[in-house]
Amino acid sequence: MANKRDASCIFCKIIDGEIPSYTIYEDENIKAFLDISQATPGHTLIVPKTHVKDIFEYDPELASKTFAKIPLIAQAIKASNPNIIGMNIVNNNGSIAYQSVFHSHFHLIPRYSENDDFKMIFGDNTDSYSKEQLVAIQTKIKSELEA
Ligand code: AMP
Ligand code: ZN
Repeated sequence: MANKRDASCIFCKIIDGEIPSYTIYEDENIKAFLDISQATPGHTLIVPKTHVKDIFEYDPELASKTFAKIPLIAQAIKASNPNIIGMNIVNNNGSIAYQSVFHSHFHLIPRYSENDDFKMIFGDNTDSYSKEQLVAIQTKIKSELEA
């Protein structure tokens, strides 16, 4: 099926070569190019060539074509620099989750040290949940998967 395109989307323009990018990999389904902000050296974006806004618009076929290439590209980035000792893979969905370009993408952010230019904060609310509250959340999500 033909790829969907959004004429006003910056990543669709990069995919079509209308806007230049530092491309490191592409195939018929995805493109991977350097994020212009380079949070850390080698910071790369992987985008599906079809315009989907966010994770909530993927079907299993698009997911398998896109996600299958993430390890390959992560491994190449890591191999490119012996100072890379880890990597965060981040996918933002919605402005509340810090998405600013509404063409789905995955950030591959190589990590060099605790003091490189990337941070993530996970709250720890373990003590705020009863067993019953966790079971209620579990049941609601499970029922969506079984629907
Ligand atoms: P997000 O905030 O998760 O939506 O990420 C969007 C990313 O796109 C940001 O990290 C930007 O630095 C990056 N970006 C925006 N325009 C370009 C561009 N022309 N080339 C490469 N990366 C870009
Ligand atoms: Zn797009």
